[in-house]
Amino acid sequence: MKRDAYEVLGVGRDAGEREIKKAFRAKARELHPDVNHDDPEAEEKFKELAAAQEVLLDPERRGVYDRYGWEGLDSRGFAPTFQGFGSFADIFDAFFGGDPFGFGRGGQMAIQGGDVAVAVELSLEDAALGASPEVSYDGIGRCERCHGNGAEPGTPIETCSRCGGQGRLQAVTRTPFGQVVRTVECDVCGGDGRVAREPCHECRGRGRRVTRQTLKVDVPAGIADGQRIRLAGRGHEGDFGGPPGDLYVQVRVRPDERFVRDGPDLVTVVDVPAPAAALGIRVAAPTLEGETEVELAPGTQPGEVIVIRGKGLPSLRHGPRGDLRVMVNVVIPRRLSGEQREMLERFAGTLDEDNLRSDEGVFAKLKRALRG
Ligand SMILES: [Zn+2]
Ligand SMILES: [Zn+2]
Repeated sequence: MKRDAYEVLGVGRDAGEREIKKAFRAKARELHPDVNHDDPEAEEKFKELAAAQEVLLDPERRGVYDRYGWEGLDSRGFAPTFQGFGSFADIFDAFFGGDPFGFGRGGQMAIQGGDVAVAVELSLEDAALGASPEVSYDGIGRCERCHGNGAEPGTPIETCSRCGGQGRLQAVTRTPFGQVVRTVECDVCGGDGRVAREPCHECRGRGRRVTRQTLKVDVPAGIADGQRIRLAGRGHEGDFGGPPGDLYVQVRVRPDERFVRDGPDLVTVVDVPAPAAALGIRVAAPTLEGETEVELAPGTQPGEVIVIRGKGLPSLRHGPRGDLRVMVNVVIPRRLSGEQREMLERFAGTLDEDNLRSDEGVFAKLKRALRG
């Protein structure tokens, strides 16, 4: 005993097309095969639901059904359109996968536009301190000339004569198991059900066109190489009233030869001549915001590190800024002149134990020598 079609959908006998489609979608969602793969009855329930909708949306069939019930349709050879499909998932896809029997405008389902990816290259300074670079990309957008309806301005849009405005056509295939009727998208109107008498000259009737888009991207301070920024809704325009896709901005940070990045910290190296390291000196060290002076105490050793607080990289999570670590590279003079050599020899002769003694143990010295 087949259940009453109106009862299956839970609508009144005077329900209109909109109400029937709405009821179908609400009930179909509960029966999704991904959610109901353990329920052996889900497939049968969905088929029952789909058949009920199919009958009630077709005025001729609905008339027969109202007078003679399912038997009346059976005796007239009615078979649900989706009968030829394989699995439950296939049947479900046929209804909701964007093809044949969709439900939006003119029988089509709204489809979200595609995502777009674009790369942007930043200097280390810009990545650290934040920047607003411009990016350009080709995006599918609405045609401005026809406002997306595909008709040359001032010309009418007519009902598609091939499909009679349904947006779909019945395709009958003979198979060894009998006839399979499939509904396919109309090749003239592309499922829209309507065609422009004179297609828009700009987009050739498509209602959309690829345009070069340029926009400023706010890159937050502290972004790292390889991270990406998502701009919702800036991708390609959707189909059949669907929402646009997203824009993904892939960030590349150019290496900066002055700095090595170590988490939130920056490391840089300054060269100091050996005599200056012994005497003490003020040297210039690079920072992201220009040079700064660093005071080196007399007797500064190779590999010693001076930490400048807060001159590293900002944190994306608004934590404290990292540090700048300035490492001292003591340069031993090369290619000495005769005079320099003589002076240095005289000087070397004056060195005693006390000049060379350090408070460090072997381990501390080794650690310092191997750092970097
Ligand atoms: Zn156009
Ligand atoms: Zn058509």
